[in-house]
Amino acid sequence: MTDKNTLAETIESKESDLLNLLGDLVAAKTVTGDEAPAQEVIIDRLETMNLEPDVWEPSADNLADHEGYFETSSYEAYGYEGRPNVAARVEGGNGPTLAIGGHIDVVDVTEDEWTRDPWSLTREGDTLYGRGSADMKGGLAAALIAIEALDSLGIELGGDLLFESTIEEEDGGVGGALSVLERGYVPDAAVIAEPFDLPNVGIAGAGVMYFRVEVPGKSVHAAWGHEGVNAIGNAATIYRALEELDTERKARIDYEPAYRANPGLKGNVTNLNVGTIEAGDWPSTLPSRAVLEGRIGWPPGESRAEVRSQIEETIAEAAANDDWLADHPPTVEWFGWQAEPHEVDSDGELATLAKRVGEDVTGRSGSFVGGNAGLDERFYDLYYDVDAVSVGPTGSNLHGADEHTTVPSLLETATTIASIAIEYCGIEE
Ligand SMILES: [Zn+2]
Repeated sequence: MTDKNTLAETIESKESDLLNLLGDLVAAKTVTGDEAPAQEVIIDRLETMNLEPDVWEPSADNLADHEGYFETSSYEAYGYEGRPNVAARVEGGNGPTLAIGGHIDVVDVTEDEWTRDPWSLTREGDTLYGRGSADMKGGLAAALIAIEALDSLGIELGGDLLFESTIEEEDGGVGGALSVLERGYVPDAAVIAEPFDLPNVGIAGAGVMYFRVEVPGKSVHAAWGHEGVNAIGNAATIYRALEELDTERKARIDYEPAYRANPGLKGNVTNLNVGTIEAGDWPSTLPSRAVLEGRIGWPPGESRAEVRSQIEETIAEAAANDDWLADHPPTVEWFGWQAEPHEVDSDGELATLAKRVGEDVTGRSGSFVGGNAGLDERFYDLYYDVDAVSVGPTGSNLHGADEHTTVPSLLETATTIASIAIEYCGIEE
């Protein structure tokens, strides 16, 4: 048995290697829909490690019958061509197989809000800035360094280790994590290196759905506006009804893991947001049509069907209470993200192991957290009965300007992942 100090020291000796790799990944801009550049970096690295990367583009046709499938917005915009997933198997003994890795796509930036270059890794002291530094190219780089450390220590695991770098998590992960599982890479457990701030262990993901409401009106010249009906006004009626539903849900729905690490989320574990509104051609006409698009997110406890019907009923009721809309009801359409929430058993083997190892490596105490964002982990848990937890570095300003993580937490992530692999898969005698 390799003692834990040797493992941590080996990983610390690879710090510059880890930072160079992360620098290459951040510089290879991979906004959801255009994941290939950083996948090339991953493929090169796996080849250097003498592993055989399996590289493939997902097929929407093959995935369409799956219970977890929905057409993602990025598939609608770009298709799956030129958007490969990458997986590689580190052969071990006949024991249990552990998957490690995560998503290679990042969300786009508002460049003028950044005070550093988002597409280049900037180190200031122990802090590392750059898009994806935390969410989650940092975790992917740490997972690769974990594999390299095991190899350089001559440790052969008692089971296989699967490394995965997947696409479009930010958009629902259907062509990414689900495609990996459907290709046959079904492990016994998975550790996804999302930035959950080790030694906190992510055990839950939120349900997330997008919807579109088309609200009618009756168009006339503004000078005869009394003879028409303004769709923007009607949209405001629907907007206020949704806002009331959001307030009512926030007061009613509680989920403690969602705010254990972030007390500000207490009372806000679910959220319903109208993100776009489109209506009208010009000031002189009452618009005949307004389209609202929104997102609802919610923690484990309600199914997708239940949440859908709450929204549909709220809109139907608001329309029924309006003289004109009662006879011209809005229509609701569901598109993009359609994810069920999930929760892994925190008393289970993987969750308890991940927390104990993380606490041991960091010397801090952690909590089981999650349930306020949609995650790829759900595919493993809901559809393949495989426990998947999130174990990764600290991260701030995820999806925002000046996203950052830290060098020590990336090293701790690599050590924790390698240690989990040793304990979960065992060591080949
Ligand atoms: Zn992420």
